[in-house]
Amino acid sequence: MAELDLTPNCKDCAALCCVLLPFDAGEAFGFDKAGGEPCRHLSGHACAIHAGLAAAGFGGCVRYDCLGAGQRVVQEVFAGKSWRDDASLLAPMDAAFRAMRRLHEDHALLTSAARLPLLAAEEVERQRLLTLLNIRQTPTEAGLVAFETGPLPRAVKAFIAGLKARLRPHR
Ligand code: SF4
Repeated sequence: MAELDLTPNCKDCAALCCVLLPFDAGEAFGFDKAGGEPCRHLSGHACAIHAGLAAAGFGGCVRYDCLGAGQRVVQEVFAGKSWRDDASLLAPMDAAFRAMRRLHEDHALLTSAARLPLLAAEEVERQRLLTLLNIRQTPTEAGLVAFETGPLPRAVKAFIAGLKARLRPHR
């Protein structure tokens, strides 16, 4: 079973994080930006201040990790198209990116859980959930909506919460 690639690849993306995500001026970002508004430092699909982000007051951009969701949305769901060429793609790309980010985050959580001292039944459940996430290897907009509104994200959340509760040190 092929594993999801959770490594961001900005060159195959369309700067989705730099346009879709909102941020507020403060320690992590230099100014306010609304979701769906292209960052003023964006040049095409590249960050014009990439080499000096932290020094320029954008440490939040350095820390953000889409977990490989951005390039999948652009390349696999929208066939390499960009909101730059068709502004009507912004809303569907936003919905797809949010769902894909959740799918990749859930995958990352379940992968990390392998390092914990799992009971046999927990390992079976971890593998079952991972398999369900990996089935969605050729995503569509409708498939991502179905994932996000379906039972799988809740099942992963409940599984991780159960592990935390069991492994929490007793006081
Ligand atoms: S500062 Fe650069 S990395 Fe951060 S949102 Fe703007 S364009 Fe993207």
